[in-house]
Amino acid sequence: MIPSLPNKHTATRDTLLKQIDQKQLLWDVLVIGGGATGLGVALDAVSRGYKTLLIEQSDFAKGTSSRSTKLVHGGVRYLAQGDFGLVREASVERGLLCRNAPHLVKNQTFVIPIYSYWNMLKYTMGLKMYDWISGSLTLGDSIFISRKKTMQSIPGINAKGLLGGVLYHDGQFDDSRLAVNLVQTIIENGGYAINYMKVTGLLKDDDRKINGAVVENIESGRKYKINAKAVVNATGVFVDAILKMDNVAAKKTICVSQGVHLVLDKKFYPSDHALMIPKTSDGRVLFAVPWHNKVVVGTTDTLVDEASLEPQALEKEVAFILETACNYFTEKPKRSDVLSVFAGLRPLAAPQNGEQKTKEISRSHKIIVSTSKLFTILGGKWTTYRKMGEDMINYVEKELNWPHQKTTTASLHIYGYSDGVNWSDPLYFYGSDTSKIRERMNGTAEEWISDSLKIHEMQVQWAVEHEMARTVEDVLSRRTRALLLNARESIRIAPVVAQIMAAGLKKNGEWVKQQVEEYTKLANQYILKQN
Ligand SMILES: Cc1cc2nc3c(=O)[nH]c(=O)nc-3n(C[C@H](O)[C@H](O)[C@H](O)COP(=O)(O)OP(=O)(O)OC[C@H]3O[C@@H](n4cnc5c(N)ncnc54)[C@H](O)[C@@H]3O)c2cc1C
Repeated sequence: MIPSLPNKHTATRDTLLKQIDQKQLLWDVLVIGGGATGLGVALDAVSRGYKTLLIEQSDFAKGTSSRSTKLVHGGVRYLAQGDFGLVREASVERGLLCRNAPHLVKNQTFVIPIYSYWNMLKYTMGLKMYDWISGSLTLGDSIFISRKKTMQSIPGINAKGLLGGVLYHDGQFDDSRLAVNLVQTIIENGGYAINYMKVTGLLKDDDRKINGAVVENIESGRKYKINAKAVVNATGVFVDAILKMDNVAAKKTICVSQGVHLVLDKKFYPSDHALMIPKTSDGRVLFAVPWHNKVVVGTTDTLVDEASLEPQALEKEVAFILETACNYFTEKPKRSDVLSVFAGLRPLAAPQNGEQKTKEISRSHKIIVSTSKLFTILGGKWTTYRKMGEDMINYVEKELNWPHQKTTTASLHIYGYSDGVNWSDPLYFYGSDTSKIRERMNGTAEEWISDSLKIHEMQVQWAVEHEMARTVEDVLSRRTRALLLNARESIRIAPVVAQIMAAGLKKNGEWVKQQVEEYTKLANQYILKQN
């Protein structure tokens, strides 16, 4: 029997660890990886009533899932490629996510500046089709706007040859906050999700079928044997490492492509509309998206040799983004204006392994099952995380001959759900928890720890008590977004954050010192070196 948690809302990592520390436990589904994909799989499994455990080697969303362009989108780009099925799938998911997490997903207008009559026709018609494909889940009508209105919407836009713009709607969100809320939703619905637990090996029965995994607690070094009926590998760019644990001869399933973003002050792009450049000088799509009072500009697409949890932006990627931004922005940003630079890695499908039975559920994501029944899911995007989870568990049920249980995630409210969000409230992303945090803040005379980023002591306490934050980086990178919004400012407040965390986690001065050192080293990598 899998124990139910006594109080799901206050389940700490220690409570969860104590509960799983029983040899006779048999989980229905063990999910490896706490990014968008793994969280989607675990949530779907939980919603069907399966006893589910998700483990993450680092923090939730430490990998690609905290490094996206922050869009919940149907994918205008796929429309240009004629992939209507994929656009339809993503548009539906966009609509469902807006409904289920209205505190995190915002309806965002985008403007595409138009410089030729051909593009005027192409993008106006194309985006009308985009609206039509979304059906009742559309976020608003696309329209052609005049030259004057385009110049008002994107102040500083290059006016030479400008004919007007196409305005359309997509979603914009906070990726790692959604991940944190998904963890809370999983736990609230009876599942388990634990960070800083790494799979180091797979367990097999006498028939060589997978029946669990060896998991190491990264904090204590202690190892656990976890027994499960189904094991799902949802480790993003690391899927091949887990596939090799199953079969040392497993062939490569993915290639890794890096995407970089720069974060700038809003003064460089003082607009509430996002900018979409469908074809930059080298044929890429580039976005400038208003986010937490800053602007995120990106991204790139560069094949890299190795997967890493801390990928580094390449000089040529930074130069390309800055150069392109300079063509469109009111004030031309310099390297010294970049508040933070972050890189993420896409797992792209590599040529298939002939020894594995592969099923392509859709062009957006892939499911592979090995002969020993290790389930692997890769590709896709944040926007479709829910559908990926549903497809994966449908597949597990079929492959293992389990009676079909209905998923409920299409209408399941995500933790923090709240209507009528005030987007200008700096604490808006806590949703239904906002008032609880504000109540605590009212009880103190304390100032913000960071006035410019609006980070308060109570948010740090909250992250430790309710959001499984274990390190200064967890708080500054993923519970708040300080690292991405202004890396220098985040370094400045790291010592205070470490002190507050130490009190909550019962850690000593040595821990504080080490945390500050480690965080400073990491955050320095998000600051551009001056030429
Ligand atoms: C630059 C860029 C921009 C993007 N922008 C968007 C966007 O705007 N909108 C959108 O919808 N999508 C976007 N995407 C796509 C989206 O971000 C990804 O599809 C998604 O985040 C991938 O999630 P994942 O869970 O598969 O991988 P990850 O988030 O990388 O998660 C995998 C996790 O597995 C863990 N793990 C690995 N090995 C082990 C182990 N042995 N034991 C335990 N855990 C392990 C890792 O630590 C990691 O946290 C973007 C992607 C990139 C690269």
